[in-house]
Amino acid sequence: MTEGSDTPRGTDMSGKTDEAWLAGRRAELDDVEVALAALDDGSYGRCQGCGEAIEQDRLAALPATRYCDRHRDLGSSPGPGVPGDQARAG
Ligand SMILES: [Zn+2]
Repeated sequence: MTEGSDTPRGTDMSGKTDEAWLAGRRAELDDVEVALAALDDGSYGRCQGCGEAIEQDRLAALPATRYCDRHRDLGSSPGPGVPGDQARAG
């Protein structure tokens, strides 16, 4: 008998994918935790980029988002090239 001939989830060959997937899940988890903290703090629904209220439609689609539609680039792209000029102006 042979086994493991057609396994869709092999941790040996798809290490990269697993890491990327984990990174995405961790990022989501982090957003949720921050959102929960904001709920407790009373600042939930406010953009951390400009401090104004996040659009209701956006909150409905992304309940854990920390940025309004204008500043969504600040949170959605974890890669390099983040324009942090306005973020730390205060
Ligand atoms: Zn904003």
